[in-house]
Amino acid sequence: MNTHFQKIFNHNKPVIIAGPCSAESEKQVLATAHELKKHPHLIFRAGIWKPRTRPNSFEGVGVKGLKWLQKAKEETGLQTTTEVAKAAHVELAIKHQIDVLWIGARTTGNPFAVQEIAEALKGIDVPVFVKNPINPELNLWIGAIERLKAIGIQDIAAIHRGFFAYKNSKYRNTPQWQIAIDIQKKFPNMPMICDPSHITGKRNMIFEVAQKAMDMNYDGLMIETHKDPENALSDSEQQITPKDLETILNKLVIRNHKIEDKDFKSSLQQLRFQIDDLDIELLDTLKRRMELVQKIGSHKKENKVTILQNDRWSEMLKTRSKYGKENGLSEQFVQQLLKAIHQESIDKQNNVMNNNDEI
Ligand code: PEP
Ligand code: MN
Repeated sequence: MNTHFQKIFNHNKPVIIAGPCSAESEKQVLATAHELKKHPHLIFRAGIWKPRTRPNSFEGVGVKGLKWLQKAKEETGLQTTTEVAKAAHVELAIKHQIDVLWIGARTTGNPFAVQEIAEALKGIDVPVFVKNPINPELNLWIGAIERLKAIGIQDIAAIHRGFFAYKNSKYRNTPQWQIAIDIQKKFPNMPMICDPSHITGKRNMIFEVAQKAMDMNYDGLMIETHKDPENALSDSEQQITPKDLETILNKLVIRNHKIEDKDFKSSLQQLRFQIDDLDIELLDTLKRRMELVQKIGSHKKENKVTILQNDRWSEMLKTRSKYGKENGLSEQFVQQLLKAIHQESIDKQNNVMNNNDEI
């Protein structure tokens, strides 16, 4: 492990990266940093340039925020980190003594941008954390890390912040733990950090995901922490107060894994986590299916058509059983499953037929 990472990760405890999603004012940055400084080895984060998905959202305070971070570092002794998305950001961040840079999810997915950042980093000895790309494409994540390695960056860690979920997910970004496991297989010595704030999108779920990450032997957590989360200018629903951070950190059970990493990573527990994720995905998909079914119910009602249409049902059984069989699922299983789903669908449509308050 290189010198920077020895300082960051070598404490027998996960490294905590905490601080606001965005730097908003000097007062907010300094006050938050002072409240967080009681945690030894914490790295203080704040976004200065915010890559917002849609225009006209708060896009960060820009370079003046770097001066606030620099001041926070001087006053508290905490190391600092911010997101960089292009060469100019790198130069400015380094100029303001930022200790760690991170590449955001929207940037990791863009090889041109990553290459530009890598080139700006040539000859600079600074640790870089690479968030997973928004879309669940392992190779984009690997590629970004390889681009940084290729220009000589020694200290690279990965941040797992979940993957885009189209709709109705329990999570803001589904964790898809298996992708994080796959990247660890590719780079076995690379530290892994979990970002439960962006995975969950909701402050009351942060503990649950942070604990999972600890159970999976992650090396650190990035948790968005704001003095006044309700009034934060970005990601308000997922930020917590420094006090709540303390409660979460005290509650976390950190297991001491003496077993070889590789063994642990293929353990039953890891497989169970993946199954938990898939079950949530299954239920989310079923929920979306039922919503469509209710819409069909309304159409049928308007057009005075009966609910059960036998032709459609036999066709469904046939096509789904065939597809299931091709994918190694027994015909009997697929048919039983479909029958259960179909029954629930009919019940839902009956509700629409008998109820004037349809969706
Ligand atoms: C952030 O950390 O505030 C951020 C923008 O994260 P991500 O790139 O994971 O969306
Ligand atoms: Mn954020």
